[in-house]
Amino acid sequence: MRPARTGRRIVTIFILFLLFCTFAIYEINHNSSKVVGMLAGPESPSATSSVDDKQTGKYKIVIDPGHGGHDPGAPTISGLEEKAYTLALAQEVYDQLKQDPMFDPYLTRSDDTFVSLDDRAKFSNDLEADAFISIHGNTYDDPEVSGTETYYYSDSSIQLADVIHEHILAANGFKDRGVRYNDLKVLRLNEVPAILTEVGYLSNASDEALLLDHDGQAHIAQGIIDGLEDYFGGQAP
Ligand SMILES: [Zn+2]
Repeated sequence: MRPARTGRRIVTIFILFLLFCTFAIYEINHNSSKVVGMLAGPESPSATSSVDDKQTGKYKIVIDPGHGGHDPGAPTISGLEEKAYTLALAQEVYDQLKQDPMFDPYLTRSDDTFVSLDDRAKFSNDLEADAFISIHGNTYDDPEVSGTETYYYSDSSIQLADVIHEHILAANGFKDRGVRYNDLKVLRLNEVPAILTEVGYLSNASDEALLLDHDGQAHIAQGIIDGLEDYFGGQAP
């Protein structure tokens, strides 16, 4: 009966080996999903977006038209409201970005509704966007004051601010009023590279004419997109 007993022993060893393999495979899978889970945690949004971007092959860009609803923003020199101009320009940027295979654009509002600053930043953070661009128009008591200013809050947003600012100036030809630090809530709450551009002065007749003009907006939008392509090195993720 020795051969039968040896056979049983072989079967037992084989079953134990199978159990060991199953356990080993489970452990490997379990540990690797933990690594992905850690990358996906809120502590490292940039790591997560790079994982997601590699899957989609596109950079997620949030375009934020300033103001809206009961918040009209600044009055323009000819009596219009900032919120209508920011929406028109943001929509133009969105439409042009849609045509670009490098980008997946999002708007924080697509009509005349009020969205809180907290919700705008939360939208960008939840999406783990690659860039957040808030669009505004400036105003001042002196109608002679004109030009473009771009703001950042975190140091990790300076490069984005510099590049977009430079391309907006190339597109609109306005006076360069600089890239500046500013403790703006919508930027401070953002965990992704975030900037706010005051593209021009709505209180200045010459700036206003270009900012409200459809062709002018198309040029500025193209400048912002050129800036994004430049910032991301002209390559998909
Ligand atoms: Zn504004």
